[in-house]
Amino acid sequence: ERLDETERALIARREKVLGPAYRLFYEKPLHLVRGEGVFLYDVAGEKYLDAYNNVASLGHCHPRVVEAITKQTAILNTHTRYLHEGIVDYAETLTATFPEALSQAMFTCTGSEANDLAVRIARHVTGGTGIIATELAYHGLTSAVAEFSPSLGESVTLGPHVRTVPAPDSYRHSPEEVMEKFGRDVSAAIADLKRHGIKPAMLITDTIFSSDGIFAGPKGFLKPAVDAIHQAGGLFIADEVQPGFGRTGETMWGFERHGVSPDMVTIGKPMGNGYPMAGIVLRPEVIAEFGPRARYFNTFGGNPIAAAAGKAVLDTIRIEGLQQNALEVGRYLMDGLRNLSHPAIGDVRGSGLFIGVEIIDDPATKRPDSALTTRIVNGLRDRRILISASGPNANILKIRPPLVFSRENADMLLDALGDVLKTA
Ligand code: PMP
Repeated sequence: ERLDETERALIARREKVLGPAYRLFYEKPLHLVRGEGVFLYDVAGEKYLDAYNNVASLGHCHPRVVEAITKQTAILNTHTRYLHEGIVDYAETLTATFPEALSQAMFTCTGSEANDLAVRIARHVTGGTGIIATELAYHGLTSAVAEFSPSLGESVTLGPHVRTVPAPDSYRHSPEEVMEKFGRDVSAAIADLKRHGIKPAMLITDTIFSSDGIFAGPKGFLKPAVDAIHQAGGLFIADEVQPGFGRTGETMWGFERHGVSPDMVTIGKPMGNGYPMAGIVLRPEVIAEFGPRARYFNTFGGNPIAAAAGKAVLDTIRIEGLQQNALEVGRYLMDGLRNLSHPAIGDVRGSGLFIGVEIIDDPATKRPDSALTTRIVNGLRDRRILISASGPNANILKIRPPLVFSRENADMLLDALGDVLKTA
């Protein structure tokens, strides 16, 4: 299928006015105009099954969120320097989904800002500057956060105060090794910081290692690493921007699967089902001293519309049982993927509706097959199913659909993937 005239012209205009830093998905870029539930529609009216977008976690344009935003937009939109019930209600509802110790919330507009604020707080509390993150982590785009987001590649230089550790590769290490290795690597990074006279401030991980290649288990492997950073006087920050809000099925928050206690949790993406909102949920002790001095203000963060959108999202997750759906359909889909028993499928892993499928060219060597992965992603796109790829070799199919994904939707994906694998 070739691009038609409309798309070619739009791409040219886009490149001219947006410049060279932007990317488009797929060899044949998609021109979307509408979304509803798990489906997206292009300009020609073609329907695509969305098995990738986690922001629209409740499904695209969920009516309850649309209504909440629309209503509040017509009533009032200010900021957090006036009293307003909405923000307090929302913060209470949000913090109630966390373990008791994590009882305060602060609001931003993006995940990057949330992580940026977390760094400032961690440095203030610990008096340290050292940061430990994983080798292919992405935590955001501000200057401070890009310095510990190695997945940005050559475009950023990691900070001199940053140490990276390998993500726990459960495909190439036994569960026993993973359990032991991650903590050992973090301890070594702490020792290296100290050797260079740098006091550790924090360990930060995405709790399902989204950009490192999606590593969900064995459950508990985070614990020794969290213990190590705490012993060294640093904080643990759980980045739940991708795994959070019920996606991993077993628990509302990814860190809970590992039985660890973060000092701060950063959240974003699906928080407003598309309305831009993010934030930090933290232990009050962490902010007690920094807070009064910081005079924190974020013009748009936590405004009445954001609070209304966020509340509608939490209500919908509960009312529609979306965490449970993620668990059940996620299991069904992972079973189905394993049952494809194709030699190029080396590993199927994940939790809930956050699934990684590692594509290899030889089961004996487990060598990544990036080229085949690209053909699969584009082959699915041609069959109107949307996914993407992740990991150091971009050879892990990343399947992360809206949480309303059904068994029937899973079957559509499985049929199409089986078909693509025959010809790719
Ligand atoms: N943390 C993680 C794990 C993310 O995936 C992202 C976004 N991809 C961010 C932080 C940054 O969020 P935002 O794009 O909203 O700034």
